[in-house]
Amino acid sequence: MIDRGWGCGWRNAQMLVSAMLMRSTEWRESLFGGCGYVPDIGSLQAWLEAAWHAGFDVEGCAQFGGSVQQSLRWIGTTEVISLLRVFRIRAQFIDFVGTHSAHNIFRPQHLGSLHHSIACDLCKRRPIEGIRHTSLAVPDYDLCDHCIRDPRAQHAGPFESHGTAPIHLGVKCSMCEVENILGVRYRSKKKNPQVDMCSRCVDFSQTTWGGRYVRVMVPEGDQDLENENRHRRLIEWIWNYFSSGFPEQGRGVVHTARLPLYFQHEGHSRTVVGIERYKKANGGIYHNLLILDPGIPDSTLEEALTLGQKWQQLVKRGPHTLRKPEYQLTYIEDGLVPENEMDVMKRLGPADTISS
Ligand SMILES: [Zn+2]
Ligand SMILES: [Zn+2]
Repeated sequence: MIDRGWGCGWRNAQMLVSAMLMRSTEWRESLFGGCGYVPDIGSLQAWLEAAWHAGFDVEGCAQFGGSVQQSLRWIGTTEVISLLRVFRIRAQFIDFVGTHSAHNIFRPQHLGSLHHSIACDLCKRRPIEGIRHTSLAVPDYDLCDHCIRDPRAQHAGPFESHGTAPIHLGVKCSMCEVENILGVRYRSKKKNPQVDMCSRCVDFSQTTWGGRYVRVMVPEGDQDLENENRHRRLIEWIWNYFSSGFPEQGRGVVHTARLPLYFQHEGHSRTVVGIERYKKANGGIYHNLLILDPGIPDSTLEEALTLGQKWQQLVKRGPHTLRKPEYQLTYIEDGLVPENEMDVMKRLGPADTISS
């Protein structure tokens, strides 16, 4: 059956089931009538209907009109949960909600100050980032570190400065050659050659080199950190899931006995099989999720793994790829659900909702 475009939910369920069959005799004997192998999509569809008819996920069943066989409809978390729970598997899911603002989060020192709810009276940017200049002559008049150099600001002087400037580690001013530009960084729109300017050099360069510049306030090295933070709790949860029981120290690859996680967001699902943690020169801790994506053809991944080349590009996904506001993770608890608890398991809801 060709399942490109709609089969991801089924394929991820198959990956999870295949790991479960190898893990526990109890599960193997219970899953799919004890057949001992991973059913094809058509059979899984029949099993899902059986789960619905047994009373699992009444709402979900109604959405599909109780029928999914011979159809190309894609399924999500609740269908996968029903498909497993009907065999007394303790499948649970958690909703993860990302943070909407990158600004209410931990920021290391070199990101510079953030002046909450203060807007620049010239460029109107809010909040002002880095150094803020408050007029001593005009009440309630603030400027950012870029606009303080604007001739239109002169009438409001003198100014008092507050806060700390961001430091652009590893970025050198192309004109005065100062290392680690402090304050506003001006990056040429033209990439080739890439020109960076500090705020003292930019006016001069604009007249001599005629370049156009964009101002960069957040040091770019830390865009990664902002991304990490948007779904911080999701990443933390996955890290704890795979790393619990292992010593914190230690380098290299650790094989754990943890089952993969069914990973859903709106419109697509994937399977998380692990997580990578590394430290950058700036001291920050960063992660990559190790993900099997049914959207990548098997043959592509197989070839990359056989050659030992480029497989990391297919499997590693950094936090910058977590662009959706919400994700769901499905995990399996040990053992089987006792008969007398099965009615409770028929109602599907998240085991937890975690906001970053
Ligand atoms: Zn401004
Ligand atoms: Zn300079």
